[in-house]
Amino acid sequence: MKWNVFSRSSSSNLNTDGSVLMAATKNTTLTLGEITVEVVRKDIKNVHLSVYPPMGAVRMSAPTRMNLQTLRAYAISRLPWIRQQMRKILEQERETSREYLDRETHYVWGSRYLLKLEEKETPPVVLYKHNRLVLQVRPGTPLAKKHAVMAEWYRDQLKHAVASLVEKWEPLLGVTVERFFVQHMKTRWGSCNPATGTIRLNSELAKKPPECLEYIVVHEMVHLLEPTHNQRFVALMDRYMSDWHFYRDKLNRLPVRHEDWVY
Ligand SMILES: [Zn+2]
Repeated sequence: MKWNVFSRSSSSNLNTDGSVLMAATKNTTLTLGEITVEVVRKDIKNVHLSVYPPMGAVRMSAPTRMNLQTLRAYAISRLPWIRQQMRKILEQERETSREYLDRETHYVWGSRYLLKLEEKETPPVVLYKHNRLVLQVRPGTPLAKKHAVMAEWYRDQLKHAVASLVEKWEPLLGVTVERFFVQHMKTRWGSCNPATGTIRLNSELAKKPPECLEYIVVHEMVHLLEPTHNQRFVALMDRYMSDWHFYRDKLNRLPVRHEDWVY
């Protein structure tokens, strides 16, 4: 029977029509209340769930033969996580659509500042003045340039902070950071390459409370001792920064796209 052939190769047994089933194996959607999950079948062993900017689209990569009901149950069990990710993405999108207007809100090290835009025929600069964050640019500066000036300033703030944190934690952890980079990262707060002794930090961290940055720096430096997020890694984090859960949760409550690890 043709039907058997299809039902074996597909997780969907909701429809006995061969052509629809074939289409369903390529692209199925699960509807969970207000949330639609696109299911993409792949030749993989495990289920991967992702939430994508800018609108928080939810996609699940699933093994070709896994039953749709199993996938639905899995997605339901992950609903709190899905909602959390969607919320973060939408907040992040709101946060990045900046126009650099007077009295616009900007965050530096977890504190909220109102922006003051000053136009002057001098090289662009960002300063603190009377509790305001001042963006000083030449008259008629385009939005992209204003954004670049601010981004560069945030990167600079972070570079200085990271340099002193690395210096503080190297002797405590007994590791050496060969190089560190501060850059715009879309999906994580930081990363580490233990083989080269390199760590990377997301420049967005300059907007978060300093203790959140310290947690990420320590997290990435602990990867120099243990590359994976296994029990040894957790034990090391507990030993060197016993309240790391608190900082991680604090950071993850703030607008971000994704977290770099979940367990
Ligand atoms: Zn990690």
